[in-house]
Amino acid sequence: MRIFALTLLSVILLACSHGNTAPANTATSTSEPNRTTTADAVSESSATSQTANTPAPPPDTPDVHVSGKRALKYTADMVAMGPRPIGSAAHTKMENYIREHLRKDGVEGNNLEEDQFTADTPAGKFQCRNFIAKFPGKKDGIIVISGHYDTKMLPNFVGANDGGASAGLLLELADHFAKEKKPRDGYSVWLVWFDAEEAVKQWSATDSTYGSRHLAAKWQQDGTAKKIKGFMLLDMIGDADLGIDRDMNSTPWLEDLVYRAASRFGYQSHIFTRKTADEDDHIPFKNIGVPVADLIDLDYGYNNVFWHTSQDTMDKLSAESLEIVGTTVVETVRLLDQR
Ligand SMILES: [Zn+2]
Repeated sequence: MRIFALTLLSVILLACSHGNTAPANTATSTSEPNRTTTADAVSESSATSQTANTPAPPPDTPDVHVSGKRALKYTADMVAMGPRPIGSAAHTKMENYIREHLRKDGVEGNNLEEDQFTADTPAGKFQCRNFIAKFPGKKDGIIVISGHYDTKMLPNFVGANDGGASAGLLLELADHFAKEKKPRDGYSVWLVWFDAEEAVKQWSATDSTYGSRHLAAKWQQDGTAKKIKGFMLLDMIGDADLGIDRDMNSTPWLEDLVYRAASRFGYQSHIFTRKTADEDDHIPFKNIGVPVADLIDLDYGYNNVFWHTSQDTMDKLSAESLEIVGTTVVETVRLLDQR
């Protein structure tokens, strides 16, 4: 993924809060690809309009039973396979791992779609596949929870957080939704493991997000896109020092709903502590009118120092972070079901 830090904008917000005024024409944010710089602290009221004037209720104990420990175990299993870029033997091994896990959850036949496509990259053509696990619901509509499972082509890069954590948490969410009664009372829930999110060479509109661009085009054509009530993307959500960014490229009302879900369990210190604008697998869906929320923590180690390096390893992750994000996502599904 790629990030544009909204440093200037937040500086102005801070300046305004201290009673200073800034010329309006400086309010355009500078773009700074591939790096994030300042942790842009935002107050709760600016992070979400819904809770602006209401005191936060006392946090509840999660009753949704997402296990961060299990999610971490699934992540560790995949990371143990080594680097998993498209075209590698470990990538194929991981595909088998995801398929077998879903089969054990009873997700097979019509409820498991393997969306095969060819990624035409600067390094040649690769056969890729997105996995879509479907948990049918009684209500007419679909909630999508997604993340990528490929890792970036870099020497010794095992992608514990970037590629591993989201794929592992999605497997735990599969366990969770598999335990619900069938069909579930709310909307259908579809879990998507995207392939080929990472740029093969340099991140650009054409060298990145191959799987999500393919699936968004397909869903636009076959009418699926119109049925999607909410699309959540998970990326780099396993960092033990968890701080999910508020992504300004996401749909505000859906981000507000995620914040409300997180607040219910007292997770505010881990969510929307700064603002960023991210390019990631959610953008192709946003572009075809789907409400999207990118849940990403792109402050991985001091000043994001572990990102896309050989230091992105299991020891940087925590079960607690995975549980916080998993619980928040399941609660957001509950809130979406009520809409
Ligand atoms: Zn990455």
